[in-house]
Amino acid sequence: MKKLFFLLALVAAAAFPAGAQEIVKGAIEGVPAQGSYHPTYSSDGACSLPRNIILMIGDGVGLAQISAGYFANNEELTYANLKHMGWVTTKSATDFTTDSAASGTAYATGHKTYNYAVGVDVHKRPLANIPERVIRYGVISGIVTTDNMSGATPASFFAHQAGRQMKNEIWADLPSSVLKYFAAGSKEVFEATPQETQVAVKKVFTIVNSLDDPAIKAADRVGVLPPKKETGYIVNGRTDFLPRATRQAIDFLNERSKEDKGFFLMVEGARIDKACHDNDFPSAVKELLDFDKAIAEALKFADEDGNTLVVISADHETSGLAIWDGEPKKGNVEGVHISTSHTAIPVPIFSYGPHAQDFMGVQGNEQVAQKILKLLLR
Ligand SMILES: [Zn+2]
Repeated sequence: MKKLFFLLALVAAAAFPAGAQEIVKGAIEGVPAQGSYHPTYSSDGACSLPRNIILMIGDGVGLAQISAGYFANNEELTYANLKHMGWVTTKSATDFTTDSAASGTAYATGHKTYNYAVGVDVHKRPLANIPERVIRYGVISGIVTTDNMSGATPASFFAHQAGRQMKNEIWADLPSSVLKYFAAGSKEVFEATPQETQVAVKKVFTIVNSLDDPAIKAADRVGVLPPKKETGYIVNGRTDFLPRATRQAIDFLNERSKEDKGFFLMVEGARIDKACHDNDFPSAVKELLDFDKAIAEALKFADEDGNTLVVISADHETSGLAIWDGEPKKGNVEGVHISTSHTAIPVPIFSYGPHAQDFMGVQGNEQVAQKILKLLLR
């Protein structure tokens, strides 16, 4: 009898860990292998200062999210071809477990702040972000994301608002930003902002609704805001927006940057986090694999250019994902979510190019921005 109680207690403990919800299992099968990009490593770890820096934030991406993509893709990922790696701790100034706004602000400014803060400090005072800091040295900037432009992560790189929910105020900060290029969601969301915001944004940026719009080529400053579906979930029909916009942003900024100055680009894979909040494991894997294609685009350019640093990390982990089982050769993998929220586990950081070695070891998210600024403020 004692044995039976012990067994029942074990089963209950496994199903309902202390303080957590019921665990949710998910599986994806038959994922077609997409290969990976194998970099040349010729500039990797060089001691020369990088001309350009591309910061890639996989929202909600912990080791298990990367591993799920790795196993689904027949034990291969562009991520996994990189040699410089470390950990990032993500706690905010007020909470052990951060939200995307506080972590985005840490990555954008080099300062910890409170959860829900967008580009402001704990006293709600504006913090200069990387684009604002580096433009004084002639370095130009851009943003690519599968979130709306007013999402917490992209907003941290151009807006200064006390709360991430202040969407209209965040959009209204866009015209006074120093960005040269952005590609984000969406046409519908932008057209729902106040008329005066739309007029002000269009005064500064050439606004187009497709990556194929010929007006992009001639524009000095451009905003690409495609229809909702094109920046939404892959499972709802998004195709190659993220890798294509990443390459377009790189080429746009590279063509317009001064010979000796260069550019800063932030690329966010936003929907890995959102899929993990929903405990939708197959969607999370598809979003991770798409983000890996965007990483490949950044690394291809880094190899062509020889003078570009690529830093890939995350703002926090989402859902306490674990890997349960898998058959990599068949593209099958199973995961378990223990939560629908963020967790405080440190996230991996990968880097490639000159000074990639600076990002090895364990560091706070705000230190990543401090290191980027140190390399660009020259
Ligand atoms: Zn989230």
